[in-house]
Amino acid sequence: MKVAIIGGGWAGIAAAVELTASGVDTTLYEAGRILGGRARSVSIDGRTLDNGQHILLGAYRETLALMRQVGADPERLLDRRPLQVVDDAGFCLALPKWPAPLNVAWGLLTAKGVGWREKLATAWWMQGIKARHFHLDRDCTVTEWLDANRQTGTLRRHLWEPLCLAALNIPAERAAAQVFANVLRDSLGSARREDTDLLLPRVDLGRLLPEPAARWLAANGTRLQIGTRIESITATSDKLTVAGNTYDAVVIATAPQHAGRLWSQAGVAYDYEPIATVYLQFGAKTRLPFPLFKQSGKYGQWVVDRGHGLLACVLSGHGDWEAFADADLATTLQNELGITDKTDWHKVVREKRATFSCRPGIARPDCATAHPRVVLAGDYTWADYPATLEGAVRSGRRAAHLLL
Ligand SMILES: Cc1cc2nc3c(=O)[nH]c(=O)nc-3n(C[C@H](O)[C@H](O)[C@H](O)COP(=O)(O)OP(=O)(O)OC[C@H]3O[C@@H](n4cnc5c(N)ncnc54)[C@H](O)[C@@H]3O)c2cc1C
Repeated sequence: MKVAIIGGGWAGIAAAVELTASGVDTTLYEAGRILGGRARSVSIDGRTLDNGQHILLGAYRETLALMRQVGADPERLLDRRPLQVVDDAGFCLALPKWPAPLNVAWGLLTAKGVGWREKLATAWWMQGIKARHFHLDRDCTVTEWLDANRQTGTLRRHLWEPLCLAALNIPAERAAAQVFANVLRDSLGSARREDTDLLLPRVDLGRLLPEPAARWLAANGTRLQIGTRIESITATSDKLTVAGNTYDAVVIATAPQHAGRLWSQAGVAYDYEPIATVYLQFGAKTRLPFPLFKQSGKYGQWVVDRGHGLLACVLSGHGDWEAFADADLATTLQNELGITDKTDWHKVVREKRATFSCRPGIARPDCATAHPRVVLAGDYTWADYPATLEGAVRSGRRAAHLLL
């Protein structure tokens, strides 16, 4: 079988590795100059950074397996830590390195800044959703879900809503509760302690997967057509033509807004949410209390300590911050952080269509299309999850399995 994959993001990479490992003659077409798509390295002012700060979870099992398969060691490249949610308003929830679910129960019961009554009510609520396997009778917004379950106190403001924004890239009042529940099921609700861990990249995104994968694919005979934008796919009864070459099957692994142009049936009209990463370079001694820190000012959301004084502030979803000029945004976030040292350098990277808007009831197409040899991959096709690296990787592997 000869297969063309269109799109070299994490979904396309996953499909290419799976097909190549199964002995399929594979060609990967990527429009950009490097692999990685929305999770890639960028060169800014002589530094290698990310197009946006990414955070992974221990629950990203297939992503970690894929990294290992192409020779990238997750234990070396990612800083694995038990989850902690710490903010500048005195809230702290820290999971101990104990077996699940004891770690989550202990973390919840010892959370700082939360009253006993609320802790017990939340523990009770979590038991209830676990008993229902995190399945909601009716999808609704995260806000409606929390309201209906009387989760209205400190934990809502300092834990559930910030986690929802980080995971789904959309504020709780617009976010799909069922998808958020799925994320909780596979992380805090998992029976494996490792799934609850936080994984922070120690290196730029290219080194996590796209670069080792490109080397692995090239060494295993995959043709990598980088810098090649595919304009159309021509289908006849027994062949598919891409860029003048014929194939037995095609995987369309582009973002949803590009898939419809290549294959009309794949078009899904989504709204999108932006993400900005505001890099602030302080002196090398500047550190955060914990490498992932929650800001609770008017604009700041999450900030990641990249080491050597480099902080990456992440602004997720539509908001007032979009109207700020880059320099004003950097100053505002620095002021909210309360770090008095002067920044040596800053840079704002804005991704306008970072993720589809993960609202209740949106369409999530399956990877199969009406054509038996044209399949879709991409974060939007993995209906269980919001737009994530793990959703992208799982979708790519599933698309490959469908063809195999
Ligand atoms: C700033 C930012 C922060 C994020 N943070 C996180 C996070 O913390 N954790 C997390 O899990 N996820 C995060 N995400 C989401 C995650 O990056 C995406 O879900 C994932 O990368 C999507 O991968 P994909 O392969 O489905 O799509 P894409 O990455 O969009 O890949 C599609 C590829 O197709 C190529 N392409 C498009 N059209 C064509 C064509 N005609 N011909 C050839 N190639 C084409 C594109 O160039 C692109 O490389 C973040 C995303 C952004 C933007």
